[in-house]
Amino acid sequence: MREVLEQLGLSLSNHGIYSDGAWHQGGGEEVISFNPATEEPLGGVSTGTAQDVSQVVEAAHRRFLHWRMVPPPVRGEAVRCLGQRLRELKKPLGMLVTLESGKILSEGLGEVQEMIDMCDFAVGLSRQLYGLTIASERPQHRMFEQWHPLGVVGVITAFNFPVAVWAWNAALAVVCGDPVVWKPSTLSPLCAVAVMKICQQIERELDCPGVFHLCVGSGQQVGEPLVEHPRVALISATGSCRMGLQVAQCAAKRLARTLLELGGNNAVILTPHANLDLALRAVVFAAVGTAGQRCTTLRRLIVHESVWDRFVPRLVEAYQSIRIGDPWEPGVLMGPLISAQAVEQMQSALQQAQAQGGRVLWGGEVLSRPGHFVRPALVEADPQMSIVAEETFAPILYLIPYQRLEQAIEIHNSVPQGLSSAIFTDNLQEAELFLSAQGSDCGIANVNVGTSGAEIGGAFGGEKLTGGGREAGSDAWRAYMRRQTCTINWGRQLPLAQGVQFPLPAQ
Ligand code: NAD
Repeated sequence: MREVLEQLGLSLSNHGIYSDGAWHQGGGEEVISFNPATEEPLGGVSTGTAQDVSQVVEAAHRRFLHWRMVPPPVRGEAVRCLGQRLRELKKPLGMLVTLESGKILSEGLGEVQEMIDMCDFAVGLSRQLYGLTIASERPQHRMFEQWHPLGVVGVITAFNFPVAVWAWNAALAVVCGDPVVWKPSTLSPLCAVAVMKICQQIERELDCPGVFHLCVGSGQQVGEPLVEHPRVALISATGSCRMGLQVAQCAAKRLARTLLELGGNNAVILTPHANLDLALRAVVFAAVGTAGQRCTTLRRLIVHESVWDRFVPRLVEAYQSIRIGDPWEPGVLMGPLISAQAVEQMQSALQQAQAQGGRVLWGGEVLSRPGHFVRPALVEADPQMSIVAEETFAPILYLIPYQRLEQAIEIHNSVPQGLSSAIFTDNLQEAELFLSAQGSDCGIANVNVGTSGAEIGGAFGGEKLTGGGREAGSDAWRAYMRRQTCTINWGRQLPLAQGVQFPLPAQ
């Protein structure tokens, strides 16, 4: 463990503020990061205050005034170097993700791969920040749209993707011309410090200090001052719906732009035409992977009553075979929850589910060993149960029977969140209905693919209480730039739009 930390330049006590190419202590208290699999301390990180946030943001803004004029492909070079360094450090950084967040090593490494993929994508994009040419209604006029850098981007991230979500934002923001100020979760601060040490090397090599910044601290101490700061042009916040509502209200006071990636309550519909073997593998990965701590985790399985008896016993059997344990160990498929509080929340949700008429079919127990380990739970439920509409950030899968597909879609869309969704069917009409405007109301809708494990090439995000933001691929880059519509008159007349006449009296 120590070796991994040392390889990434971490010590037992680390500075949590990085700005203008240098590390600072900050005025807040030290936060200790714990390994959720052993409850052992991994190291400490100092935190910032509102005053630190202000200094960091001002430094980022000073860099912005220069960085916005650097040609985008040259800005892309910083991201190319970042991707290269991440390739070299994939193993130790992936191991640190596992140590700090408790996800299994394959997922820890996958998270770093996602950062690398995102860097590759953004480097290509640095030559493709295309605007439009628009036909003008006026003679000898040319109209076009162009995209300019926006300003400082504040990135607030959750514990469960301690490095990838920053990369989704930072890789795009930096090629778009925006310095980034990162406020990570205090549950995974070492990952953030390790990433920023890599950024420091790149800033030195390319002589561009001030592009990447970090300010570790709580939501109240650091998050809120970041959202309130008038120099922060875009707040990209990932976390619970509760946090998103607070951030949105705070940002609205100054009409700041927000990009919100919030909680999900994702469902799969299993129809009579589903390939059950395929569905079983997808359902177990989506519900149990990352110990149920993904925003895209499968939380509701809506099963046609004609396949219930063939599918549910197989699902219980598959759950029984899941190896739970140290996420470093090969063969382990489920690690711990992030904290004792997360275990309590899972237990409370299970009690509420039972009180509301749900029936636990399997699992849910807390394991008596060090670390925050639980068994994943399967609960037969009714969609009317209020707990089913909530996102409990733990591996609880509610199983809900249905009779008609229209009814299944209604149940599917009946929750306040709208992130990821899927249908398992080999029937074209069923699949197309699910993908149609009267089908899934989520930002992500899949056919014969589970709800979790999205590729970076698509725009990622969800509707309703999930916040409406889109990150990563496709045209998500536009959120990090400002659009300017330009008209050039290259003639000698001044024709007005819509044929308006405005003759001045002869002079
Ligand atoms: P959380 O809401 O507790 O914290 C997320 C981040 O927000 C942390 O950095 C926290 O310090 C900060 N924060 C909290 N209150 C704040 C405030 N008032 N102002 C500014 N910052 C504030 O979430 P968590 O427990 O770390 O992560 C789990 C949640 O994140 C789940 O709901 C999950 O679905 C969601 N999530 C969503 C996505 C997505 O892309 N949609 C991805 C990952 C996680």
